[in-house]
Amino acid sequence: MITVVGSLNIDLISTVDRFPKPGETLIGSEFRTSFGGKGANQAVAAARLGGTVQMIGCVGDDPFGHEYLTYLKKEGILVDRVKPVTHVSTGTALIVLAQGENSIIVVPGANFQLAPEDIDRMKDALEKSDIILMQLETRLDTVERVLFWAERFGNRTILNPAPFQPIPDGWWEMITYLTPNEHEAEALMKSATFKEEFLEKLIITLGKKGAVYHEKGRKIEIPAPQVDAADTTGAGDTFNGALAHFLSEGLSLGEACRYAVHAASLSVTKPGAQGGMPTRAQLESFMN
Ligand code: ATP
Repeated sequence: MITVVGSLNIDLISTVDRFPKPGETLIGSEFRTSFGGKGANQAVAAARLGGTVQMIGCVGDDPFGHEYLTYLKKEGILVDRVKPVTHVSTGTALIVLAQGENSIIVVPGANFQLAPEDIDRMKDALEKSDIILMQLETRLDTVERVLFWAERFGNRTILNPAPFQPIPDGWWEMITYLTPNEHEAEALMKSATFKEEFLEKLIITLGKKGAVYHEKGRKIEIPAPQVDAADTTGAGDTFNGALAHFLSEGLSLGEACRYAVHAASLSVTKPGAQGGMPTRAQLESFMN
């Protein structure tokens, strides 16, 4: 089983001709919502590929939160450890699209209500996991508590260090793999807590160039297939969910990365973060 500890956000997306000035009201041309948040995105990516996936996180006890849980259940994800909390709204990302650019306001809301004590209460769920997948859209003290229990139980962990924040002291030793993109990797390797011996924990995604990691002193490059990219939103999330899934199936790191790169590349051919995440059958036919 794969356990994802992370965020769930509802994206609220408005399209308008230009960005409003402070105090101004504009009439937009389109509005849509989508399910997002790195945690839930990665959980969906793993579940589409056929993994048994359990999500740990928080939503608000509001229509967005209930709608999200219903949707995740339909995707086959176990959500009994996603806590609806009162007095705080479900996490939202308010996105304005204008003039080919976007501006985004993320309100973490319920995502920041997941506390280390919740993790202590759910440690039985962690114990049963083959792989635990995390990102940095939840509280750092909560992520740290997950790492603590994972180390105790001997679980493998993947930390997708996004959005980027420096890795606190003592974390590197507890994490099995970190999956930064190129920019995050550069920042990580410059950070005070990084040591050369941690290089082999890094699996670095390189956009259309694929991914790279180091094993036994050798650099291993996994090229991405060429595709017509329609929307790269969520490419990293697809990579992480797929990596967790294929590692949990017992594939070697190299093979799991090859599948994850292909899943992510296939996902960018369709719009939306979760919209393009492939099923196992779609991935296999793409790779053959
Ligand atoms: P995002 O923040 O957009 O979700 P990211 O910066 O976390 O992405 P990337 O390194 O850009 O992650 O991409 C992750 C994976 O997605 C790559 O390893 C690759 O497999 C695939 N990918 C991304 N962009 C392209 C592209 N233009 N063509 C083919 N594959 C791509």
